[in-house]
Amino acid sequence: MPELPEVEVVKKSLEKEITNLSIKRVKIKDGNLRYKVKRQDIYKIKGLKIKKIKRRSKYLLIFLSNDFIIIVHLGMTGKFFIKKKNKSKQKTSFYYNLQNGQEEKHDRLIFYLSKETKLIYNDVRKFGFITLCSKRKVFENKHIKKLGPEPFDRNFNLDYFVKYINGKKRVIKDLLMDQKFVSGLGNIYVNEILFFSNINPKRKISNLKEFELLQIIKNIKKVLKKAILFGGSTIKDFKSSSGKLGEFQQHFKVYGKKGHQCSNLDCKGKVKKITISNRSSFFCSICQK
Ligand SMILES: [Zn+2]
Repeated sequence: MPELPEVEVVKKSLEKEITNLSIKRVKIKDGNLRYKVKRQDIYKIKGLKIKKIKRRSKYLLIFLSNDFIIIVHLGMTGKFFIKKKNKSKQKTSFYYNLQNGQEEKHDRLIFYLSKETKLIYNDVRKFGFITLCSKRKVFENKHIKKLGPEPFDRNFNLDYFVKYINGKKRVIKDLLMDQKFVSGLGNIYVNEILFFSNINPKRKISNLKEFELLQIIKNIKKVLKKAILFGGSTIKDFKSSSGKLGEFQQHFKVYGKKGHQCSNLDCKGKVKKITISNRSSFFCSICQK
């Protein structure tokens, strides 16, 4: 499931490839996404230019040349491909593998853009969505309005952390997964962030010391930046990148590593797996207290 770094990489790829192109037409192959794609919305965007692309949490915001923004959420399996004239299909991120044309049956929308460029939205499980919103109303959108600060925002700092957790009784893993506290983190990166911070995922937030809060803030920014960096140059040729896992997956310390030796060299522990709020949590009980 794409988390903030994956969406950021998609954003960067799209920014590079489709900014300033105009939308000639859109083919709806299967509009039954999380929200049904409305034909009247598609008419509204025909002929418009793509002005800029932003990211808010795990949402992509595609600004058009009038009052509209296309809001995209990739859900579980949403992905964009780009196909340019006389070139092979390109990925826009690194979190998915290509299957030699097998994925075409899951193409849901095809945007025909100027300069003979096609933007293809592919989604196996169809939990993603693509919806139109006016610029003035974007912050009232039900998905956008409740989001907490971006992890890279200056307002996401110790002061904010201390105030937010005051009087609350939760475990740290749940808090970090809560999009109202900080937006864009998901299960993979929360596991990794807690490992780097030496904090047990079941720790109660009321018991966390100030230096531990600082560690968490620092590691959130660090882990996400690193993940974005690993994916930063991954618009690759369709064929040459097929079958390869994203490089960032090879750098996980605990996520999905149950039973593996702890990666801290002086530790003899093994990575454990437990369930917290129905989600898998991976950690080293020796390093993470
Ligand atoms: Zn350890």
